[in-house]
Amino acid sequence: MSIADELLNTVLRHAGQEVSRKDFLSLAGRGLAASVAVGTLAACQDKSAASTAGATTTPTTGTPAAQVDASTTYTAAGGQQVPSSEAVSPPAKVPAAADKPIELEAWKSDVDPKSPPTPTPLPPDQRVGYALVGLGHLTLEELLPAFGECKKSKPVALVSGSPEKLAKVAKQYGIKPTSCYSYADYDKLKDNPEVQAIYIVLPNSMHAEYVIRGAKTGKHILCEKPMANSVRECELMIAACKEAKVKLMIAYRIQYEPYNRLVRDMVRGQKFGKVKYIQGQNSQSSANVDHWRHKKALAGGGALPDIGLYCLNTSRFLLGTEPIEVFGYMHSTPGNPLFKEVEEMMSWQMRFPDGIVVDSITHYDTHDSRFYRVNAERGWLHLDNGYAYRGQQLKTSHAEGPAKMQNQITIGTKNQFAAEMDHFSECILENKPPHTPGEEGLQDQRIMEAIYQSAREGRPVKLTPVSGTDVFRGPEPKLS
Ligand code: NAD
Repeated sequence: MSIADELLNTVLRHAGQEVSRKDFLSLAGRGLAASVAVGTLAACQDKSAASTAGATTTPTTGTPAAQVDASTTYTAAGGQQVPSSEAVSPPAKVPAAADKPIELEAWKSDVDPKSPPTPTPLPPDQRVGYALVGLGHLTLEELLPAFGECKKSKPVALVSGSPEKLAKVAKQYGIKPTSCYSYADYDKLKDNPEVQAIYIVLPNSMHAEYVIRGAKTGKHILCEKPMANSVRECELMIAACKEAKVKLMIAYRIQYEPYNRLVRDMVRGQKFGKVKYIQGQNSQSSANVDHWRHKKALAGGGALPDIGLYCLNTSRFLLGTEPIEVFGYMHSTPGNPLFKEVEEMMSWQMRFPDGIVVDSITHYDTHDSRFYRVNAERGWLHLDNGYAYRGQQLKTSHAEGPAKMQNQITIGTKNQFAAEMDHFSECILENKPPHTPGEEGLQDQRIMEAIYQSAREGRPVKLTPVSGTDVFRGPEPKLS
């Protein structure tokens, strides 16, 4: 007699039930009936044990009876039975190379989207060590948490003017107290062998000084956008890193984000024919007159260099070409102290070769809105939250015969800060130039200066034409 039959007979005896064995089995199928039997048996045994001892009833714990496959069971110390299966490792490919993913036995059909490859993190002692300079919103809210999703990067040092923040953050992320520095001690990073890269996350006006001083420590530099407050500062930063023979990358996270990269591929592959114009909008609402973002000397400008830059840089990234002319219109509400020094709104057009126009607006006093639409000959691509940290939604429209086809494309997401940092680490580990080097930031700065000039003078401003594609970018990132 099988274990299932034996259990079934036992429980029917215990429960003294009226129901026939045949009815019992036909109620829910043999497997389920056997499972129910195991659970009922355990409950009966518990009940009878409790009544014998005259003690209080102990609730039965363990796997619910309905999930128990009685073909093989394991008896726990308290007499409860749980399913037991032979432990095996199904066939899997386990390549020796660190960057090749483990391939597990497949079980999904190709009807559903393919799972991404299993992650290939480097052992911690082989990852690139970063010193984060500035413990403000971006560092605490996005960058430090993103290291948890990195495969090639780890935080090893912190620089801040606040000893309290340094102590707390260092504890949270396992950073040695000896690797915490004040701004005055910044140059001592030179003597910390665990630090290979410095990530500058300070107000815009401080980028130039901290990149130039950082280069002197011999460490590679990742610098937040906007690269600096002027073309001249950008040029000095590039020269300092060249002289020190260290890499310089500007943190254009969008260029490492999967949805934006997919749109770029569709644009470049002319999925819906030639692109004719792009509309972009990056707006948010700001407060706090005292914040550096509202001080011209520290921020360099208002909405344009802070968030409008994403419309500018992303359209250059999508098209691969460079604008030849810009026309800007700027406004700040009179009497609003937030916008006494910096612009509240910038609306501008960029003319690209072949008559392509990019029309953008950025605002510091409207509800959060961050999208763009690429309009091509035979369809459009619309990326909601295109410039946001997360939540990208890609919609497309095109015609098929009499039908207008509107699709929503969903792909795997990736933390764009982790992707960006891992790309820079890869450049360091493999001695490659970064995809978004200082030259990419310098070109944006040239264009922003032309937009300001145009808005001030109320006329279009021409830019020096640049021929070729991706002229200011380094090789494609691997982004595994
Ligand atoms: P924040 O104000 O939250 O943090 C700035 C940090 O700099 C603070 O820790 C502050 O203590 C320190 N600091 C040092 N000297 C300072 C001074 N003189 N005045 C003010 N602060 C000083 O700013 P944030 O939002 O973290 O932005 C930092 C940089 O990161 C900026 O360049 C910004 O443009 C960039 N950023 C990029 C993204 C992105 O998505 N890539 C997002 C936000 C900010």
